[in-house]
Amino acid sequence: MGASRDERLATNEAFFRTINERILSVVDRFGSDGHVYSFICECANPACMERVSLSIEEYEAVRADGTRFVIAPGHDVADIETVVDTEADHILVEKTGAAGEVATALDPRAA
Ligand SMILES: [Zn+2]
Repeated sequence: MGASRDERLATNEAFFRTINERILSVVDRFGSDGHVYSFICECANPACMERVSLSIEEYEAVRADGTRFVIAPGHDVADIETVVDTEADHILVEKTGAAGEVATALDPRAA
């Protein structure tokens, strides 16, 4: 069957994470003063252009775990991820099963 649907969805999310890492590398220069920045929703929908607002500290807390992603409320896909935290502007999800393995394998911080 090749790459399963779960793996494909997880790959999409990992792609958005890569973009957010680039955003972070730019804003990092301005220091982390609690200022809130716009990150891209890291959901499984490749066409999603939603933005989520997080401080550098909040974003770093998500990135500390390779299976966690930050997405807009309601963008979670129940069979590949579990909602672990709900904020007004965004939610945190944790990848499960095959999707979790893909997320970990593609973690840019795991090198
Ligand atoms: Zn989304």
